Amino acid sequence: MKIGVLKERADREARVAMTPDSAQALQKLGYDCVIETGAGKLAGFSDDTYRAAGVTVVDTADALIAASDVIAKVRPPESAEIDKLGPAKTLISFFYPAQNSALLEQAKAKGTNVIAMDMVPRISRAQKMDALSSMANIAGYRAVIEAGNNFGRFFTGQVTAAGKVPPAKVLVIGAGVAGLAAIGTATSLGAITYAFDVRPEVAEQIESMGAQFVFLDFKENQQDGAATGGYAAPSSPEFREKQLEKFRELAPEIDIVITTALIPGRDAPKLWTADMVALMKPGSVIIDLAAERGGNCDLTVADQRIVSDNGVIVIGYTDFPSRMAAQSSTLYSTNIRHMMTDLTPAKDGIVVHNMEDDVIRGATVTFEGEITYPPPPPKIK
Ligand code: NAD
Repeated sequence: MKIGVLKERADREARVAMTPDSAQALQKLGYDCVIETGAGKLAGFSDDTYRAAGVTVVDTADALIAASDVIAKVRPPESAEIDKLGPAKTLISFFYPAQNSALLEQAKAKGTNVIAMDMVPRISRAQKMDALSSMANIAGYRAVIEAGNNFGRFFTGQVTAAGKVPPAKVLVIGAGVAGLAAIGTATSLGAITYAFDVRPEVAEQIESMGAQFVFLDFKENQQDGAATGGYAAPSSPEFREKQLEKFRELAPEIDIVITTALIPGRDAPKLWTADMVALMKPGSVIIDLAAERGGNCDLTVADQRIVSDNGVIVIGYTDFPSRMAAQSSTLYSTNIRHMMTDLTPAKDGIVVHNMEDDVIRGATVTFEGEITYPPPPPKIK
């Protein structure tokens, strides 16, 4: 069978779903690899590097789709792309089925099997295919680099002949995958890092990454926002008030705020309010990784860098992984390659779409003309 990779067409998207290295691994699974011309260019992979890795380069998306049994990409497909698919084909990409019901219906009508990389169950066995985590890790790292690029001072404290420099103080709100990556990056650059999460179980992880966990003076279980599966639940109004009170207290001291707080199925909670921004020092930086879901900061505008009246820089870029396209393409294509390994039990270049397999079942959102989203809960932990 043939695996084909399309060029991404979305604005600000520089990633590609296959690298020359991952193409070689796919060939070892028995597949022939095809790529649309220029698909890897923005990530630093030329057509020639693909050719040297045994990949056939084709001129158009139409030719790519016609030639391929499995089509891989990064972003959810455009409607016109699904239109060209058919019953004998499998599409693998981010898909966000909850937000893309029209695309889901279209894929069902075409009879295409769709594997959504954002639906890979978050269980230990599937970590190698967990593209949400591999991309969140990059976003957390890049958020700190972006903050450093906008912040006018060092992260680390220094005593130099020219004077004493205090370390920057960084607050990370939300300590999931992106938040923990941001904490690790900020502490490794020498900042004093604080972090807050509504889930109390992450305190140990925060501390192990070198940050101080911000505890609240709250009557019951300290932090109270754990829901099932490691995700957060909405906070009670009393808890939220305590949280905002604590952030107001911290705001004048903090140089850089990185917010990553998300609650499944909801808009991002507003946690860094306009009055907190007003309390910050000029030149402070806020990086809002929740911008795509409405932002954690009142002032965030998606995909914009704005400066508040008191000189605080607020960044709401939604394309952090794409800003490190070589790295993110490498990790994403590894996630895809692992998915293909599980879909190819005999390593003979033939897809076996085993709906009894929890991971494959969980990620499959359309199969043989049916919508298979949402999946049943996974059996394996
Ligand atoms: P996410 O992107 O859904 O949310 C980011 C963080 O924001 C979470 O830690 C959440 O608790 C926090 N948050 C929500 N509301 C908040 C508020 N009001 N104030 C402060 N923080 C708030 O999270 P994620 O990165 O996708 O990770 C979710 C969970 O999944 C974590 O427990 C993570 O360890 C787990 N996980 C498990 C696996 C695996 O086992 N394979 C893989 C990846 C992630």
